[in-house]
Amino acid sequence: MNIPSNKPYWTEKEKKNVLDALERGQISGDGYYTEQVSALIEENFGARKVLMTTSGTHALEMAVMLVGLEPGDEVIMPSFTFSSTANAVVLNGATPVFVEVKAEDLNLDPADIARKITAKTKAIIPVHYAGVACDMDRIMAIALSHNLKVIEDAAQGVNAKYRGKYLGTIADFGCYSFHGTKNYICGEGGALLVNQENSQTIEKAEIIRQKGTDRCLFLRGDVSKYNWIDAGSSYSPSELLMAVLLAQLENMQEITKKREAVYRVYQNAFEPYEKRGILKTMQIARECEPNYHIFWVIFNTQEKRDFVLKELNRKGVAASFHYLPLHSSPMGKKMGYKPNDLPVTEKAAKCLLRLPLYAGMTEAELHYILQSVEVIIGTL
Ligand SMILES: *Cc1c(COP(=O)(O)O)cnc(C)c1O
Repeated sequence: MNIPSNKPYWTEKEKKNVLDALERGQISGDGYYTEQVSALIEENFGARKVLMTTSGTHALEMAVMLVGLEPGDEVIMPSFTFSSTANAVVLNGATPVFVEVKAEDLNLDPADIARKITAKTKAIIPVHYAGVACDMDRIMAIALSHNLKVIEDAAQGVNAKYRGKYLGTIADFGCYSFHGTKNYICGEGGALLVNQENSQTIEKAEIIRQKGTDRCLFLRGDVSKYNWIDAGSSYSPSELLMAVLLAQLENMQEITKKREAVYRVYQNAFEPYEKRGILKTMQIARECEPNYHIFWVIFNTQEKRDFVLKELNRKGVAASFHYLPLHSSPMGKKMGYKPNDLPVTEKAAKCLLRLPLYAGMTEAELHYILQSVEVIIGTL
């Protein structure tokens, strides 16, 4: 049996919407579907302003541009993340500062944030790994006391909550991804959530998104022609993608429920191995309501992880590791980081295993995965 790590969950609605978008004639950005999708996110999640983007990466770039960094400025983030989090900062001429994560949830460790703040620190980018919230109370308190901006990298955290609030709506900015590997997808896509009260920030975001022009004001009829106002880029997604995304978001609860069911089966199945001391399962704090983006375990040695990973792959199960830490990457080394700088992060990278998780997983697939795991772990 061949089981992929993830798989899209389509209904008839995605196809219907794409055909409708084609028939409407406008397939560039900011038409009917973009408006529907942004309104749905604003209303459903309680975001002040949502700007749809071409990717989560681009949403992060926009957020960092809006913070306004200068060369030498530092931005705190985990090393245990995707390159996009750090690229957004590097592309804006500033310096990422990599911080340790907590072993229980692989989210930013507030104690290490406090240790790494300097006079040059301007912002923090917490990454809600696996759709489980970071310790936002402590992170926001640290930010407040040092006057730092906070950008939530909620690429994996769409539709997940922290103390009843949707991820992405808690800090100054939130960034979502609708990439094909995430929970709710349109292939490539993202959203920037602007949560600041300040309407100037929203206007600035609209200008950055529309190639540095005030095209948004023009479309609203506020100005008679549009002009180049400031530096910007092309961040609005095609209507075809937003047509797919609208159907996905309208199906969000169903998709989440199906993912949760798979997640719970995994959690129950792996608990006995945890009791036997072979591995640790992910821990979800009480204040977090996840979206079941990832199910991961950490083996007590890299040898065991590598063996189980290799054997599962051999049996056709696309289990995977996660994140070669950014501080250990060639770029991180160029920045001066050394092995053992972030031991919890390095252990996670060496010992973590992700299991396939998607909404349409069949009983037979799940059974096959668990049987395979049992046989493989039995030979350890
Ligand atoms: C997926 C992801 C991104 C990038 O999102 P794209 O839409 O693929 O550009 C950024 N950060 C994290 C943590 C991610 O998981």
